[in-house]
Amino acid sequence: MTRQRGRPPKEVGGPDVATRAAEPATGNSTRIHLSADGYTPPGAEERYESWVLAEARNLGYRLSCRCLDCRRPLTDEISVRYRRGRVCRQRAGVVL
Ligand SMILES: [Zn+2]
Repeated sequence: MTRQRGRPPKEVGGPDVATRAAEPATGNSTRIHLSADGYTPPGAEERYESWVLAEARNLGYRLSCRCLDCRRPLTDEISVRYRRGRVCRQRAGVVL
């Protein structure tokens, strides 16, 4: 397996989000994410994490982790996202 190391290419994730967020808001703006609505652009770490996850997905890898409650291995995408298995989510009162 060959892997690229280092920082993600600039074009990943579309135009530079930080640059877009710095633009002044205008009355007829067509942007979806507005700071007035409480939107904060993703930081460098979040963008890097998204890039790593996308690359892993493209290579056919799936994430897994252990349940925070029972320590069983989790592979289901939703379970991994919440760090809890379906049964433990229900027990903890997390709806999904
Ligand atoms: Zn569990």
